[in-house]
Amino acid sequence: MIPFLDLKSINSKYKSELMVAFEHVLDSGWYILGQEVEKFEREFAFYCGVRHCIGVANGLDALSLILRGYKELGEIKEGDEIIVPANTYIATVLAITENKLTPVLIEPDINTYNIDSTKIEEKITAKTRAIMPVHLYGQLADMTKICDLAKKYDLLVIEDSAQAHGAILDGKRAGSFGNASGFSFYPGKNLGALGDGGMVTTNDDELAMTVQALRNYGSQKKYENIYRGVNSRLDELQAAFLRIKLQHLDDDNAKRREIAGFYRERIQNTKIIIPHLINLDSHVWHLFVVRTEERDKLQQHLADNNIQTVIHYPIPPHRQRTYAEWNETSFPISERIHNEVLSIPISPVLAIEEASYVCKVINDY
Ligand SMILES: *Cc1c(COP(=O)(O)O)cnc(C)c1O
Repeated sequence: MIPFLDLKSINSKYKSELMVAFEHVLDSGWYILGQEVEKFEREFAFYCGVRHCIGVANGLDALSLILRGYKELGEIKEGDEIIVPANTYIATVLAITENKLTPVLIEPDINTYNIDSTKIEEKITAKTRAIMPVHLYGQLADMTKICDLAKKYDLLVIEDSAQAHGAILDGKRAGSFGNASGFSFYPGKNLGALGDGGMVTTNDDELAMTVQALRNYGSQKKYENIYRGVNSRLDELQAAFLRIKLQHLDDDNAKRREIAGFYRERIQNTKIIIPHLINLDSHVWHLFVVRTEERDKLQQHLADNNIQTVIHYPIPPHRQRTYAEWNETSFPISERIHNEVLSIPISPVLAIEEASYVCKVINDY
C-alpha cells in the first residue's frame, strides 16, 4: 500500500538530530519563549527574506493575529471587507470571520487553482481593506498583479503561505511579498513540526511588535497588558525541531519537484488533467492535485490498486454549514474544482518506483 503521506518516514530521516534537540531543550529547563524560538524566528526570517518573524501556536492563529494586529493598529476595523479565494482551505476564511471582518470570495483560476487576479478589481469597494492570496497546493499566487492592485487601491496584502514554504518568484520567497504572511508548521506541511506550530512573517515593524504582544496575553513587558491578547506561542521544543528541518527544506522541496516532474511527464490519460506549472521555482508541490470529472471513480480505482489519495477539499467554504448565509451563493469554478480534484501521493520520501507505479495505475484507468 502506498500511503498518501508517510510522516513517520519523513521524520525518521532526522531522528538522531531531533533526539539531540529534544535532549537539549529538556536539559535547558526552559520550555516557553526562549532561545530556540528566538533562534528559529531569526533563521526563518533570514530564509524568507523578511525583517521579522513571530512564532505562534498554529497557522490559523498566525493569520488571525495578523488581522487582529492590523485592527489594533487602526488599519482595519470591524465589518471591513477582506478579499480571499473562494476555494481556499477553511482556515483562511475562519481567520477573517473570527475577527468580525467580511470575507469577499473570489473565484479561482481553473488552471492554477489560485485566486483569479483578473476578478479582484471588480470586487473592490470602499470597505475593502486587504487582499489575502493563498499559495494553494504550494504554488505562488499571481503576486505581481495582486501587489499592483493593492498599491493602486491602498490595500494590505496578507499572504496565506501555509502550503508554500520556500516557493520563490523573482528571488523573493513566499511570505515576503505582502505586508505580512501566515505560515503553518502542521506536521504534514512542507516544513512540519512534530505537533502544531505557526509563524507570522512581516517587514512591518509596528505589526511585528503588536503580534508579539498579542500572542502573549497582549503583553510586551511581563504583567503589563497593552492588548486583550491570547496565548498563542510556538513551543521551544517545536522550534528546536523546526530549526533542524529548516536546514533540509530546500532539499526536501527539490525532492518534491523531482516527483512532480516525473508525474507531469509520465501521467498520460486524456481523462485526467495534471497541474499547470507557471514557473519551476514558484511551486513547492505541497500537494500534487489532478482533476477529472470522474474523480470518485478514479479515487476508487487507485484505492483498489493500493494507492491512498485525499481530496483537497471536498466542500468549499461557502457550502459549509457554519456559513449558512452563503449556502445559496454560487461559485461555479470553485464548486467544479471541489468536485473534480484528487491529490495523489507526493513527499520527499516517496520513492521513484512508487511514483512510477502511481503513474501506471493512473494511465491504466
Ligand atoms: C494548514 C493551513 C492553514 C492552517 O494551519 P494550521 O496550522 O493547521 O492552523 C491555513 N491555511 C492553509 C492554506 C493551510 O493549508
